[in-house]
Amino acid sequence: MEAITRRYTVGDQAIAALDGVSFEVPQGQFAAIIGPSGSGKSTLLNMLGCLDRPDSGRYLLDDVDVSTFDDERASDFRNRRIGFVFQSFHLLPRLTVLENALLPRRFLRGVDDGLAERARDLLVRMGLERHLQHRPGQLSGGQMQRVAIARALLMRPALLLADEPTGNLDSRSAADVMSLIAEVHGDGQTVVLVTHDAEVAARAQRQITLRDGRIELDSAA
Ligand code: ADP
Ligand code: MG
Repeated sequence: MEAITRRYTVGDQAIAALDGVSFEVPQGQFAAIIGPSGSGKSTLLNMLGCLDRPDSGRYLLDDVDVSTFDDERASDFRNRRIGFVFQSFHLLPRLTVLENALLPRRFLRGVDDGLAERARDLLVRMGLERHLQHRPGQLSGGQMQRVAIARALLMRPALLLADEPTGNLDSRSAADVMSLIAEVHGDGQTVVLVTHDAEVAARAQRQITLRDGRIELDSAA
């Protein structure tokens, strides 16, 4: 990510939500983005997830310059190469745990049946083997987030992004979820997470602090 700038105009005021942000996350790294409210964390995560495009600057993912993609290419790339975990889980209540974990398959053109087995394996790994046919409403918050992590990993994404993944969890479930994310990272998964929780950030290898749309501190620099 090179010199990324993203401006918003509110009334006649222009705000730079991101103001020349540059950094590189090497493959396999686990990085945390921290900073006060309004510092640009969500804007940056949206950029990393190809949900938003910069006004200027370049963003390379898998050696591809995704900052030039139109919406259709961006969403195709996103579905295949990026896994998202959100604070509020974003599971579909009418689907089973297994169906939720298989959701990314719906975006694929060809059917790939190896994915059903992979979803099952991931859910077992997340400690959910007894819940495959349950609905999200029957699960605890920590279990729901583990389903969301399995879903995010289904396509073997180049990048796992998490926005306050422990924000809605009690401290014990939060610790479980962080242990699983650390374990997934241990297997070589690149992870970037946004948090305002110092304990969560400390689990990452690297902490990038944003303030007013700029990198104030980067523990790797
Ligand atoms: P954080 O996630 O760190 O709280 P954000 O990335 O949400 O910060 O926001 C950074 C800045 O950009 C803030 O000043 C915010 O008000 C502004 N901003 C974010 N999204 C929008 C938007 N859709 N429209 C206008 N301003 C926005
Ligand atoms: Mg935010």
